[in-house]
Amino acid sequence: MKAVVWHALGDIRLDDVPEPTIKDPYDAIVRITTSAICGTDLHFVRGTMPGMQEGRILGHEAVGVVEEVGPEVRNLRPGDRVVVPSTVACGTCSYCRAGYYAQCDNANPGGPRAGTVFFGGPEAAGGLDGLQAEYARIP
Ligand SMILES: [Zn+2]
Ligand SMILES: [Zn+2]
Repeated sequence: MKAVVWHALGDIRLDDVPEPTIKDPYDAIVRITTSAICGTDLHFVRGTMPGMQEGRILGHEAVGVVEEVGPEVRNLRPGDRVVVPSTVACGTCSYCRAGYYAQCDNANPGGPRAGTVFFGGPEAAGGLDGLQAEYARIP
């Protein structure tokens, strides 16, 4: 598939990359129909937010259509049209249940104090590929 890939400061390219696959029972694969460019993407391009790794797909926000869901996903089905916000959350911790998804205790593999997880960012933000792509894995 085609995706916008970060290579180095000031060097992003439209590359051919492998399509994402389900890695966790709570994942969905979404076919992106529209994605956005936001100010955080620009931090990575110009180097005002550190820690990006070559090969990371950029992009925080998108809309699309669910293509496939993991076996534990109960609230989405293939064919559903979805909005994908920038932050990733578990949906079940106390912060998520209170609506504070960016404060999720479980989304970041670095632990509850590791900070917000978002698409298309550095390893410290979860190391997830972003949404400026034809398909994305959505935890
Ligand atoms: Zn954003
Ligand atoms: Zn949570």
